[in-house]
Amino acid sequence: MTKTAQRTSTFNESVIREMTRIAHRTGAVNLAQGFPDFPMPAPMKDAACAAIMGDVNQYAITWGSPALRIAIAEKYRRWYGMQVDPDTEITVTCGATEAMAATFMALIDPGDEVIILEPFYENYGPDAVLAGAKPVFVPLVAPDWHLDIERLAASITPRTRALVLNTPHNPTGKVFSRAEISAIAELAERHNFLVFTDEIYEHLVYAGHHHPIATWPGMRERTVTISGLSKTFSCTGWRLGYAIAPRELSGSIRKVHDFLTVGAAAPLQAAGAVGMAFDADYYNHLQRAYKQRRDVMMTALVKAGFSCSAPDGAYYILADFSAIDGTRNDREFAIWLAETIGVATVPGTSFYGDPGRGTSSVRFAFCKTFETLGRAAERLELLNR
Ligand code: GLN
Repeated sequence: MTKTAQRTSTFNESVIREMTRIAHRTGAVNLAQGFPDFPMPAPMKDAACAAIMGDVNQYAITWGSPALRIAIAEKYRRWYGMQVDPDTEITVTCGATEAMAATFMALIDPGDEVIILEPFYENYGPDAVLAGAKPVFVPLVAPDWHLDIERLAASITPRTRALVLNTPHNPTGKVFSRAEISAIAELAERHNFLVFTDEIYEHLVYAGHHHPIATWPGMRERTVTISGLSKTFSCTGWRLGYAIAPRELSGSIRKVHDFLTVGAAAPLQAAGAVGMAFDADYYNHLQRAYKQRRDVMMTALVKAGFSCSAPDGAYYILADFSAIDGTRNDREFAIWLAETIGVATVPGTSFYGDPGRGTSSVRFAFCKTFETLGRAAERLELLNR
């Protein structure tokens, strides 16, 4: 009998990617996997073509081409007043996904506990398993998904090595407040743990402000800031992400990254540097368009009978369907919705570690053209007939 490694038996295939395949099979409008269906900025596409034609087709430096690392450091200085050394503190990776996985493997020992705030983007669970970490789930409190600081404090043990923060948050759209971030920072300092912060939706904020925890006093040295180009520049297929961390932590992340992937695509890194230099106009426009998409989606969902609140950031709405269907669970409902109504979503349970949570919700991604959203809205109206 063929034997597979024990570690792979403790997590399942990605439900998000599975729902995309179900959308293809059923012809449903794919509001499951969070990727834009509109074009990325033309200057970046031109720069990628020019890089390929200009023979930038061999390995870049393992931890990222100098041009892209310099552009990232410059952007963090401009936007957040963060001083980042491009030579020693940035690792360019194959998407934020690899940045998070490499961070876990570089900085977590088997048996270490890692706090994950629930609901959470499904990758963090397997990331923990692959690193041998013990995930400790701390629920955010519905309906406004606030952080219960006392509950968080009570979940810290001498084995707590890190906390995963994701703001703006997938799947709820929560943007962590200054007070919440201060509380996390205070606990991290007091109990000497690291913070791995996934800020991939940093430019998609509709209410409040994005606060990078690395800018808090004392936090820069214990934070790995992870982000990437996928969401900001609508290029999820380019797989360009990065981790920013102090020199010593970056040294370990770089080693893991090197032996996993050697490096991200060289010509796309060249083009990525062009995007990182865009000015505020680009970001303002992106944010305005996304806010409109959010409003269109919210209107459609409320009209169809879902119970949900408007997200402050990111591009997802986690919607409760119990008023529409009180019998199916989240997975049955998601498959029924794709097959019968023609809209693909992600079942709520895929964002929880504890079984039994998320059973009456599904996640809608609204990173789509107004035409696609309109098509989805028309189909969702069928729920009222
Ligand atoms: N982050 C996106 C989501 O939550 C895409 C995930 C992926 O498939 N890499 O849908």
